[in-house]
Amino acid sequence: MSRSVFLHEMTRPAFEEYLESESNPIAIIPLGSIEQHGPHLPLGTDSLAATAAAKEVAERTNSFVVQACMPGYSPHHMGFRGTITFQPETLAAIIEDTVESLSHHGIHKVLLVNGHGGNREIVATAARLSGRAHGSVVLMPSDSALSDPVELLRKVDAHAGASETGIAKLLFPELIEMERVEGFEPTAKFPAEVENLRDTEASNPSLRAQLLMAYTGDTHEFTSSGIYGFADPNDADLDAAREGWERRIGLLVELITLWKTIPLP
Ligand SMILES: [Zn+2]
Repeated sequence: MSRSVFLHEMTRPAFEEYLESESNPIAIIPLGSIEQHGPHLPLGTDSLAATAAAKEVAERTNSFVVQACMPGYSPHHMGFRGTITFQPETLAAIIEDTVESLSHHGIHKVLLVNGHGGNREIVATAARLSGRAHGSVVLMPSDSALSDPVELLRKVDAHAGASETGIAKLLFPELIEMERVEGFEPTAKFPAEVENLRDTEASNPSLRAQLLMAYTGDTHEFTSSGIYGFADPNDADLDAAREGWERRIGLLVELITLWKTIPLP
């Protein structure tokens, strides 16, 4: 397929031809953030990754991508320069307005690909409400985080650490400045009670991991580098990143393929 999958890169007739040739058009909206990502990753890391995922899934399923916005909900990163945050209502309104416009043109299947944890609840709510309001099905598949709670408690690695650096190395290596994290020493520090949650020998690691992740103060209060976690970005594992990426893309492709067999309710 030679045409661009990005709506904003198509001409109107090209888009009309696409709609005529595809009986099951699905719009994919990538969502992420513009927020500090430590000293070495670009501010748009989450949006760049979500857009790359949306593009690949669209190419493999004859879908198209609507790039509705770059920033997301990131008030907890405002202590660092460069972060842009929307109010939750703004983000929800952007999603709803986009779903409404698509519905106006007869497109009633919308997939939201969210690359930023801080958006999660807002996007999920907007998906449900906008779908109901505009006769559409708006899906936000879960991002299968928190798979191994003991590992999570050990490394935290929630933001700009080894795993996000791996994804960035895979998708946009030219934007990373690894020299800024040479000789990395973790700067993340929690109050004693929160630090106690990280005891990997204690019972109920899953509950304690959830509590730890719910402890969402402002990032600059936890970590002077902006890296939220204990995993060295220099240990980013490109193979693991590629494997995780391919698994995620594969699941989304499977989801859309299945979805195309199901009529609208
Ligand atoms: Zn991120």
